[in-house]
Amino acid sequence: MIRTLKGKISAVYICLVLMIAVVGFTSVISFHILSKSIDGLMVNNYKSINTVNNMIEAIDGQNIAILSYLNNNEQIGTNLFYKNSDEFYKWYNIEANNITEIGERDYVTKINDEYIKYMTLFSDIQEIKNNQGKDKALDFYNKKVSAQYTDLKNELKGLSSLNEKAMFNGKNNVTNDTIATMYIILGLSTVAVVGGFFISTFFINRFLKPVYILTECVKSVKEGYLHQEIPVVSTDEVGLLAHEFNKMTKRLQQFEYSSKGKLLEEKNKSLAIVKSISDPLIVLDTDCKVILLNDACEDIFGIKEIDALNKHFLESINNRELYEYISSVYGEEHEKRAEKIMNLKIREKDYYFNIIATAIEDRNLNIYGIVVLFQNVTKLKQIEKIKSDFMATISHELKTPLTSIMMGLSLVADKKIGSLSEKQESIIKTIREDGERLSSLVNELLQLSKIESDKALFNIKSCSIIGIIENCIKRFNDQAVDKEVNLYYEASEKLPKILVDPDKISWVLNNLVSNALKYVNAGDEILVKAFAEGNKIFVSVIDTGVGIPAEYQKRIFNKFVQVKGSDLEMRGSGLGLAIAKEIVETHGGQIWCESKLDVGSTFTFAIPVAN
Ligand code: ADP
Repeated sequence: MIRTLKGKISAVYICLVLMIAVVGFTSVISFHILSKSIDGLMVNNYKSINTVNNMIEAIDGQNIAILSYLNNNEQIGTNLFYKNSDEFYKWYNIEANNITEIGERDYVTKINDEYIKYMTLFSDIQEIKNNQGKDKALDFYNKKVSAQYTDLKNELKGLSSLNEKAMFNGKNNVTNDTIATMYIILGLSTVAVVGGFFISTFFINRFLKPVYILTECVKSVKEGYLHQEIPVVSTDEVGLLAHEFNKMTKRLQQFEYSSKGKLLEEKNKSLAIVKSISDPLIVLDTDCKVILLNDACEDIFGIKEIDALNKHFLESINNRELYEYISSVYGEEHEKRAEKIMNLKIREKDYYFNIIATAIEDRNLNIYGIVVLFQNVTKLKQIEKIKSDFMATISHELKTPLTSIMMGLSLVADKKIGSLSEKQESIIKTIREDGERLSSLVNELLQLSKIESDKALFNIKSCSIIGIIENCIKRFNDQAVDKEVNLYYEASEKLPKILVDPDKISWVLNNLVSNALKYVNAGDEILVKAFAEGNKIFVSVIDTGVGIPAEYQKRIFNKFVQVKGSDLEMRGSGLGLAIAKEIVETHGGQIWCESKLDVGSTFTFAIPVAN
C-alpha cells in the first residue's frame, strides 16, 4: 500500500510509462520481423531467380557455340561450349545451395539430369560431324540437340517461376503481416491512450477530491464558519493537511469563543457606560438608522429604544434641521466632527443642546456610523439669558441718568453756569472722562444685548468687502499718521460678494483696526488683508504691536476679558471682541486670533461667500 501522495502519483506515472514502453517494444519487434521477412524475400528468392537467369545465359552461349562448331569454327565453338559449361556449373552450384522452396530441389535434380544429357548430345554431334559429315550433324542438331536445349530451358524457367511465385507470395505475406502489425500497434496505442486517459482522470480525481474538499472548507472558514471538519480519508500529505486543518479550525473555534466572550464583556461594559451618560446620546448607522440610544435620550425625547431601533432618525426625532446638521458629518468636504448649540422644542419645552456629532470610522477610515451627544446646556443658556437681560436692564436704566449727568457736566465744563477754579476744572475733566468711558461701556453693553436678543434686525445685503475695508482705512488714516504707523491693505482682485449687514461687519473691522492702533508703537505696521479660499472670504488685521500672551488668546473673545497689565489709558470696556464674535457668528462665520508677544497679533474673521 502506497502511503504518500508523491508515491501514488509516481505509481500512476510509472504505469503510464510502462504502457508506452509496451507499445514501443511491440512496434520495434514487429518492424524487426517485417524487415527480416523482406530480407528473406530479397536474399533467397531473388538470388535463385538471378542464378537461373545466369544458367539460361550459359546454355544460350553453349547453343551458339554448337552452331558455331557446326559452321566449321570447330575450335572456337568447342572452347565456347566448355567455357559456358563451367559458367553453368558455377551458377548451378550456387542454386543447389540455395534451396528455399518446396519442389525447388526436384527442379535442381531434373536440371542437372537434363544438362548431363545435353552435354552428351554435344559429344554425339562431334562424332556425327566427324564421321558422317556436316549435313548429318546439322540434321541431328535440329532433331535432338535443339529439343534437349528447349527442355532444359523450360526446366530452368520453371525453377525461375517457382521462385517468382514464392517471392510474390512472400510479398503478400509481408503485406498481410504489415497490416496485422499495424492493427496490433493501433490496438495497443488505443488501449494505451484510452487506458492512460482513464487512469489519469480516475487517479487525478481521486487524488484531488480531498484537495477540493479542503479548498471548500478553507473558503467556509474564511466566511466565518469555523465548525468545519474535513473527513481524513488517507494518510498521505493531503490527509495530513486535512488533519492539521481540523486542528486549526478547532483552535480557531476556541479562540473565537474566548475572544467573543471578551468582546461581549467589553461590549456590555461600553453599553453600561453609554447608558449611564446623563446627557442624551444616539448612535446612528450610515443610513441614519438608530443603532443605540441611552436612558437620558429616552427620558428627554420621550422615545423608547425598542421602538426606535433600526428605524430612521427622523422617525424618532422629527427635526429636519437637526437631522441635516447631524448627517453633514458624512459629507466628504466636512469635518468628521461637528459641534453646535441648537435650540430644540421638545413637548412644548425649550431646550438648548450643545450637539456633538462624531463620525465613527473603521480601520480603513470608512465611516460606519455617527455618535450624537446632546449636551444639555439649557440651564447655562437660561443663566446667560438672565445675565443678558439683567445687563440690558441695568444698561438701559443707567443710560438715562448717565446722559443727564454728562449733559450737566458739559454745562459745568463750558462755564455757562459760572466760572470754575483750576482745581474744579481738573476734577470736572476727570469726571467727564470717566463718564464718557462709562457711557461707551453702557452703549456697548446695550449693543451686545441687542445683537444677542434680536439677530433678525440685521440688514443683510450683498456687498463687496473691499468697500468696507477702504472705508475703514480712510477712517483710521489720520490716527495712524499721528501715531506714525503704516496702515494699509492688500486684497486679491475680484473677490466674490458677501451677504452681510455692511454696518455690522464694518463695526467688526473698525474694532479690530482700532484695537490694533491701540497696541502698536510708532514705526509699526497694520495690514488689513482680504482673500478668498473655498467658499469663504477671509479678512485679517495683522499688526506688529505688543502681542497677546498665549493664556489670553483663547478667551480674548469672552466678555470683559482684557489683558492684565495693559495700559489703563488704552483700555476699553472689554466687550469689543465679544460683540465682534457675536456679529461674525450671526453671519455664519468664525473669528480667531493668532499672536506672539512683542511680535504682533493677527485677528482674522471668515464670512461665507454669497451664493
Ligand atoms: P477693549 O475695549 O478692551 O479693547 P476688546 O474686546 O476689543 O476690548 O479687546 C479685549 C482685549 O484684547 C484688550 O483689552 C486688549 O488687551 C486685547 N487686544 C485686543 N486687540 C489687541 C491687539 N491688536 N494687540 C494686543 N492686544 C489686543
